[in-house]
Amino acid sequence: MSTDRNERHKKAMQRRKALVDEKVAQAQEERGVLIVLTGNGKGKSSSGFGTVIRCLGHGYKAGIVQFIKGTWDCGERDFILERCPEVPFHIMGTGFTWETQDRERDMEAASQAWEKAEALLKDESLHLVLLDELTYVLKYGWVTQERIFEALKNRPREQSVIVTGRAASKALCELADTVSVVDVEKHAFQAGIKARKGIEW
Ligand code: ATP
Ligand code: MG
Repeated sequence: MSTDRNERHKKAMQRRKALVDEKVAQAQEERGVLIVLTGNGKGKSSSGFGTVIRCLGHGYKAGIVQFIKGTWDCGERDFILERCPEVPFHIMGTGFTWETQDRERDMEAASQAWEKAEALLKDESLHLVLLDELTYVLKYGWVTQERIFEALKNRPREQSVIVTGRAASKALCELADTVSVVDVEKHAFQAGIKARKGIEW
């Protein structure tokens, strides 16, 4: 019985390996990718920052622009600012839009932050650029889609970009090479559990 099961498992794994090997052989193109991490579930920015660390671990350079979260305390930002001074990191200067309630100020801050992003998107030395919460800039029309897409499309060939944020537009998803939608199955906050330092921010 158990020998049978082992045999079946082995055959299944052989078939899977053959499929994976074929797919690996088919992937011939070498270039950076545009990744969009969107959806209402938890895990978008933390995945983006995790990938920055993955890059740094290989000795590559990465740059970050954080849109929206200007006044928000967050561990990953403090860590990178303090311990990785070589990583270009720009933070948009105002808080969440529902806190500032000032469209002019948001637009000005977003446009300044986008200029920093444009500089990173021209920098050949960067293996990865993280544009955290950029989807809101598009959603609120603080910077035109045309301007944002032009910079994304014309970036260095080897450079990858991660865009995070809820409600990524159809056009952005079409432009991207990889799109992951993080869904909410449940979230502790919905059950009345307070956001935790080091987990939520
Ligand atoms: P994280 O930074 O934890 O990866 P995120 O980038 O996917 O989260 P955002 O939409 O940027 O999520 O939300 C920012 C904050 O809200 C984070 O503290 C995050 O943990 C929390 N959060 C994310 N999704 C939910 C949710 N569905 N309900 C309540 N809080 C959430
Ligand atoms: Mg986020």
